[in-house]
Amino acid sequence: MSSMMDRSCTRLQAMGQLVKRAYKYRFYPTSVQAEQLAQTFGCVRLVYNKALEERTRAYQIEGRRVSYAESSAALTRWKRTEELSFLNEVSCTPLQQALRHLQAAFVNFFAGRARYPVFKSRKKTRASAEYTRTAFRWRRGRLTLAKMNIPLDIVWSRPLPEGAEPSTVTVSWDAAGRWFVSILVEEEIAPLPCSRAMVGVDVGLTHLAVLSSGEKIANPRHERADRRKLAKAQRALARTTKGSRNRVKARLVVARIHARIADRRRDHLHKVTTRLVRENQVIAVEDLAVRNLVKNRSLARVISDASWRQLRTMLAYKASWYGRELLVVDRWFPSSKQCSVCGVVGESMSLGVRDWVCGCGVHHDRDVNAARNILAAGLAER
Ligand SMILES: [Zn+2]
Repeated sequence: MSSMMDRSCTRLQAMGQLVKRAYKYRFYPTSVQAEQLAQTFGCVRLVYNKALEERTRAYQIEGRRVSYAESSAALTRWKRTEELSFLNEVSCTPLQQALRHLQAAFVNFFAGRARYPVFKSRKKTRASAEYTRTAFRWRRGRLTLAKMNIPLDIVWSRPLPEGAEPSTVTVSWDAAGRWFVSILVEEEIAPLPCSRAMVGVDVGLTHLAVLSSGEKIANPRHERADRRKLAKAQRALARTTKGSRNRVKARLVVARIHARIADRRRDHLHKVTTRLVRENQVIAVEDLAVRNLVKNRSLARVISDASWRQLRTMLAYKASWYGRELLVVDRWFPSSKQCSVCGVVGESMSLGVRDWVCGCGVHHDRDVNAARNILAAGLAER
């Protein structure tokens, strides 16, 4: 065991590295800015969809792959036509960024890593526009986007790192009607001292996470109440008539509760993942494909899956920042019914069974036992 730890330490001991890190804040646009941004989002969607349509035609009819340069040249042509001249009213950068995103989506598709790109829907619950360095002004902590004459009114809920120089700025709007700006900066991350601890993490329904150490991390506070409110709001939404004003209102209520649950979860997950990465050299989790085997789409399950995904993402980048090792168990195994002490696989248990006694005499907490098996499987696979 100790030689394994040493291997991990020497291999991943980082010197301190420059990483790109996004800082996200809420902001309150003036009515003029809100209008400009809504128009920009509309143009981004149109350019993306039009380019996707052309690329699809080239791919399906001529079997040809269109390059970013070709899409970009097409954009220039569209802007010269009378019909699409309104594209000139918004900053060109977000439009070009949309084409770059489309290019990336095709690269991933052709590499077999992703599905064929889909159209951006007008009904989509989130819209965004990305501005690169030449399309915004950053002066003394004030951020002004291209085509705007006053800076954004940003709520600086946490400070940007000292002397940070933003390289990309993404403005977005969500279904709950909130505006966000995500600022990408380069930051020096100091490595953490090597740790000898290892942990397996099981993400469940009754707790946010259960650790192989036996610790159970509770779900965010108020979530039970929020879930009840959400279920109630969803029933109210279902009772409204399509296209009615009441439906629009009811949808907003649902979106706001969703947003509140997601925000609290995210804050909580940040704290938990930072702690896990600080304390442990090796962290083992299950892969999503494994979890997908359970086809139970209850609200609690949906929320749990979403936070599991976030936990994975956060652990992955934080582990790489701080020189830790993340092990992902990508093979299904009977994590909760196998005894983590003697290895015997017990009989199937319903979800209601929270603890059990193995033939070897060990008394197991179901989730802690699962977390221990995840750690063991992770170590065995690497
Ligand atoms: Zn046993």
